Amino acid sequence: AEGDGTAHPEIWPEYKYPVPVDPAVEAKIADLLKTMTLEEKIGQLVQADLCCVTPDDVRKYNLGSILVGGNSGPNGNDLSPAPDWLKAADGFYLASVDKSDGGVGIPVIWGTDAVHGHSNIIGATIFPHNIGLGAAHDPALIERIGAATAKEIRVTGQEWTFAPTVTVPQDYRWGRAYEGYSSDPKLVASYVGAMVRGLQGTPDETNLLAHDKVIASTKHFLADGGTKGGVDQGDAQISEEDLRDIHGLPYGPAIQNGVATVMVSFSSWQGKKLTGNKSLITGVLKDRMGFGGFVVSDWNAHGQVEGCTNNSCPQGLLAGLDMYMAPDSWKGVYEDLLKRAKAGEIPMERIDDAVARILRVKFRLGLFEAGKPSDRPLAGDWKVLGSPEHREISREAVRKSLVLLKNQGVLPLKAGARLLVAGDGADDIARASGGWTISWQGTGLTNAMFPGGTSLWAGLKQAAEAGGGSAVLSPDGSFTQKPDAAVVVFGEKPYAEFQGDRATLALDADLTGPYATMKKLKAQGIPVVAVMITGRPLYVNPALNAADAFVVAWLPGTEGGKGLADVLIGDAAGKPRFQFTGLLPAAWPKTPDMADGALYPFGYGLTYATPRAAWKALAEIDESSAGDARVYFTKGVPASSWSLVLGNIDRGEEKRITTVPADAIGGRAHITATDAAVQEGARRIVVSDGGAALAVSSHDPLNLSRETNGDVMVLFTVKVSKAPAKAALALRCDGSGCGSR
Ligand code: BGC
Repeated sequence: AEGDGTAHPEIWPEYKYPVPVDPAVEAKIADLLKTMTLEEKIGQLVQADLCCVTPDDVRKYNLGSILVGGNSGPNGNDLSPAPDWLKAADGFYLASVDKSDGGVGIPVIWGTDAVHGHSNIIGATIFPHNIGLGAAHDPALIERIGAATAKEIRVTGQEWTFAPTVTVPQDYRWGRAYEGYSSDPKLVASYVGAMVRGLQGTPDETNLLAHDKVIASTKHFLADGGTKGGVDQGDAQISEEDLRDIHGLPYGPAIQNGVATVMVSFSSWQGKKLTGNKSLITGVLKDRMGFGGFVVSDWNAHGQVEGCTNNSCPQGLLAGLDMYMAPDSWKGVYEDLLKRAKAGEIPMERIDDAVARILRVKFRLGLFEAGKPSDRPLAGDWKVLGSPEHREISREAVRKSLVLLKNQGVLPLKAGARLLVAGDGADDIARASGGWTISWQGTGLTNAMFPGGTSLWAGLKQAAEAGGGSAVLSPDGSFTQKPDAAVVVFGEKPYAEFQGDRATLALDADLTGPYATMKKLKAQGIPVVAVMITGRPLYVNPALNAADAFVVAWLPGTEGGKGLADVLIGDAAGKPRFQFTGLLPAAWPKTPDMADGALYPFGYGLTYATPRAAWKALAEIDESSAGDARVYFTKGVPASSWSLVLGNIDRGEEKRITTVPADAIGGRAHITATDAAVQEGARRIVVSDGGAALAVSSHDPLNLSRETNGDVMVLFTVKVSKAPAKAALALRCDGSGCGSR
């Protein structure tokens, strides 16, 4: 798109930042701003990494914040035991409030990448990475995950997480795509408020540290997922409208839920680095959208701004940045800002505004009254870290995140079955957890570093044995006694950030292993269930073709094995104990370059539909629901079995809108309205449901052309003029053969 990276704030939405302004706090901030020296003010604007800073530095320079990056930790590495983190937190805090040198003693705040649970810490509950949560379509679950994560963070004494990532990836070759919930801005936006509330509590809550909470950071502002070619830290060459409507959308609910901080993206928009973009940081985010917290930059990102270096970048502060993440360059940044402030190159009002924003957040946290980290609620309460309660939430998240792409009668596995579990990732919790787990890249880890965690194989084995069966681990698929079925685990190995960037959407692992294993097992008459560990949808047609059933497990974390077994292994009669409910959070590629469109579109996912009263929400209906609803019909199921219903989610009631006519399967068709439906021409159906009005119209012509592995898809357009309470548009299947819709 044409443009030089200058935004027009007037075309962006306005929000109200809901965090109440407390006059008493404002008075304290005003007092502090009068008392603080320029040196102390500049210190607040600087964040240093644990790799390269000591408590003495924090005391001497009055540094505002410290962070722990991917490869650092209290003992100089990322394998430091949890108690040492709390000890370190005390050390830095006590140094920061030490006034013996006559300073103001502002408590330091410690930020960490708790991006899927308190994920830097050995023993923490590791939740599925965001892409899996996107498949779960469950904002309430997200809020519970946020609350559990906040508690685990508090155990080790930190106060701030660089989460949630609210990116909206548009190209899954991007190495960070799994950090985003979905390619769909609406789905992402529907999660943001929930995660922010889970972590921080409601916007009017004060004294967060007394309430098991931490502060959040929505990142990375803006269009980190919109770069050309999915290149990490690249350039988003898109229009301002797309920037706003795709990538900007999730920042609305973030601000409306009082997110305390926003992290700026490494990337650029229209050739201009975000970290130096005043029109976006100040013009759009702060002034137009009303964001009232503070803005932090990303890891030395200021060094990439036009005309800057790691040790000098006043452009950032001038653009609206409040805190520099200057991991190893903090002293350079500090000294440079100080020099320029003294020389009058940076207006004092800008410095005071940045300091005030940081202090406001610190007051909101209750950091001034909280005492040292180990004295605060939950600190050192080691049983909360990886507690059974939190693991149960993660296990539920795993169950809800699994997406079933294919099932030719093999799933659910019968309790009592003798299973063979193959694939080199089957007994590897680090593989199932992905990047940003203990270490930055998630590599170099063993199962022993996940105390309390369960590998996919271990989870299947426990469930199989509980049901009177067995599960034997055999990475290469060889066996001595013929099993009833095989589960072959395969997929991506951990990566983070640019190290995960790929040129195509082909799985670049050595596939001869898993594909050959699947084929070999099939040839011996053993039904094969493929389970894919992956941070993104990838071209894996050979596996899709070879396997009898195909499950996408994403990056499920420490409870992956238990959640997977819950859904895969049924009861003794072969009935499911848990349903598949996950739906693709992004389209699945048909080719390695996505050129021919999707093999499975966004929102696709099969279930173990039972013949009677099976209905599956296609879309929750509210005023914003206008858009496409996708309906899939399994080939071979009589059309008369299907109907489209409007249902009340809470009451489980449903009202039939229309049956799906026979000629809708595999050809062009008209939809016939029934019951309360009023037909308008052939394509528009208006339903009245207690005053609610919903119009469902088919596309013109009905889009029946997209065949996906035996299924036929129909696209409807939903228009809502007045929303019924808690309604969902759903597809219901009655009769025989509903099988695997
Ligand atoms: C990442 C951020 C992260 C930061 C601190 C950066 O490299 O882009 O997402 O929060 O490091 O670890």
